[in-house]
Amino acid sequence: MTAAHDARFGFGSRPGLDLTWTLRFRSVQPRELLNTGDDLRDWLLTAGLPVGGVPTDAELEAAHSLREAVYRAARRVIDGRPIARGDRKVINEAAAEPVPAPQLSGDGEVVLVADGDSFASLLAMVARDAIEVLGAGDGRLRLCTDELCSLVFYDESRPGQRRWCATARCGNRANTKAYRARKGTSQ
Ligand SMILES: [Zn+2]
Repeated sequence: MTAAHDARFGFGSRPGLDLTWTLRFRSVQPRELLNTGDDLRDWLLTAGLPVGGVPTDAELEAAHSLREAVYRAARRVIDGRPIARGDRKVINEAAAEPVPAPQLSGDGEVVLVADGDSFASLLAMVARDAIEVLGAGDGRLRLCTDELCSLVFYDESRPGQRRWCATARCGNRANTKAYRARKGTSQ
């Protein structure tokens, strides 16, 4: 895990939603961050999920499919509309795979050990987290207020008033805009 990886992907606190952050600027000029199996491997490692080898093209496709299903489902939940059956199917099937078992290593660290298909088990962890967030029903699943961003996030702050996916990115952009507006300049 490196800082470079963090900078490339960006993480909130919920891997189920963080996966949807790997396609940026959906509404204006979509930027794909998971182009290859290597990208997906880096994302999984940065998310703290111990992927073994480089995911295959089919596994990359499975990750994209889960990601898009979660994103569409999140937008529906935010809008107070039912989640499409096909999207529920993709998410539920991914979540139904067995997840890795936490095991204690000799030096007291927690190691996740997959039983069977290790990639499917990692995706299952992501899908299960997405289900928790999508089903939370607490109004904390939101769409970023920045008009260019289009990311969804789960607000875990105590006041629960967050409006941006990550204050460091969109929040700052909004504050800068407001500052410029107050100063009466356009640049
Ligand atoms: Zn944002």
